[in-house]
Amino acid sequence: MSATSRFDTLLVANRGEIACRVMRTARRMGLRTIAVYSDADADARHVREADEAIRLGPAPARESYLDISKVIEAARRSGAGAIHPGYGFLSENGEFVQACEEAGIVFVGPPASAIAAMGDKSAAKARMMDAGVPLVPGYHGQDQNDDLLRREAGAIGYPVLLKASAGGGGKGMRVVESDGQFQAALDGCRRESRAAFGDDRMLIEKYLTQPRHVEVQVFCDRHGNGVYLFERDCSVQRRHQKVLEEAPAPGMTEALRQQMGEAAVRAAREIGYVGAGTVEFLLDAPQGQSQEPQRFYFMEMNTRLQVEHPVTEMITGEDLVEWQLRVAMGEPLPKDQAALVIDGHSFEARLYAEDADNDFLPATGQLTRFALDLQGAALDEREVRLDSGVDSGDSVSMHYDPMLAKLIVHGPDRAAALATLNRALAALDIQGVVTNRGFLQRLASHPAFKAAELDTRFIERHESSLF
Ligand code: ADP
Repeated sequence: MSATSRFDTLLVANRGEIACRVMRTARRMGLRTIAVYSDADADARHVREADEAIRLGPAPARESYLDISKVIEAARRSGAGAIHPGYGFLSENGEFVQACEEAGIVFVGPPASAIAAMGDKSAAKARMMDAGVPLVPGYHGQDQNDDLLRREAGAIGYPVLLKASAGGGGKGMRVVESDGQFQAALDGCRRESRAAFGDDRMLIEKYLTQPRHVEVQVFCDRHGNGVYLFERDCSVQRRHQKVLEEAPAPGMTEALRQQMGEAAVRAAREIGYVGAGTVEFLLDAPQGQSQEPQRFYFMEMNTRLQVEHPVTEMITGEDLVEWQLRVAMGEPLPKDQAALVIDGHSFEARLYAEDADNDFLPATGQLTRFALDLQGAALDEREVRLDSGVDSGDSVSMHYDPMLAKLIVHGPDRAAALATLNRALAALDIQGVVTNRGFLQRLASHPAFKAAELDTRFIERHESSLF
């Protein structure tokens, strides 16, 4: 990694809202922006907003957004000195990072070695144990003998969770309730994992029955500085997919916040991290008035900018994409830990083109209208932010992730921010394509959500009043 890596042209190797969001900051910083697109996106908003746009190939992502050589070639042709990968696609692909390096292009993200260190769940857990980061009680060893795994499960205590070491996206994961179920579950998980990842190594974890998903935003530069920008609560999930996120996490004590923040920075330092990263923890959340201390456990590290990064921006007043670009240019972090403070509360709702009343089937079509009427709802534009990949008149295809936009709000406290979220959701004017807006409204106005009774089974538990 060279120390001086200034660039004046940035290629954004992504589409949709994140491509638009990254380009917004790049433009403000005076950078020239290059978009890339597939045939399905020739008229997309991110293409319209870029200074220059380069076609990658046909609609399938494999032949366009995931094609490393085409993306590198687009950067060469446009004279881009750096590539921002957004999230998804090539953002956590070590081979792509290597290809950027070989082409003399700055990759806006961590070194390939840091991505590799977190890519395998077993290896990552071993590293984290060395770094003194708390882990869910479990087994993550190399010995994969069936009988040994079964004994380990018994020692951990049922219920346990079997997870594919190479896993991701909730695949190759199974809860086992008893010793009698163990062998069948192991066989099933191995089969699934071989099919999905070509690898059948397993790890075992104690299955926490009511955990919260609380993650910490970290940032490191190339000069040895590392900070945390506090936490986000992403417990409201459907099939392990986040739906509503907020920052800060409700009910955190200052001591716990600091402990989790420092553990996250330790995790990042352990693997030589550079740039924006997120350390995901499970927080064992005794519900109600329990006096038990809350315990947190490392789950995984995402080595990229997260979808939900805006809630952190709203409570810190920092622009995380600007931080990423500055770090990529070789600058030190804009602020140290002592200068970072939490102001108020923020929520993010993910707006998807999908039919919540019909098993969340993806929806397509032309968005004849897509707008947010702030004035009509008497909302202050400083309180509401719409990060969108679409405009009125745009078409929604079936080729990519169906997320259209993110609605992000800020308020002086949780109750005020939640009231703003509900007003802002109602002020969205969407016509032509079915969305999950109604579902988001039912979630955001749910008494249990208002009371911050959060854990990863929230949606499951309240199914009858949400659908
Ligand atoms: P993936 O990489 O496939 O997304 P993760 O390890 O990140 O898998 O876990 C995904 C989700 O599964 C978490 O957000 C959490 O809701 C749940 N989960 C993971 N580990 C545990 C555990 N030990 N106990 C209870 N729930 C868990």
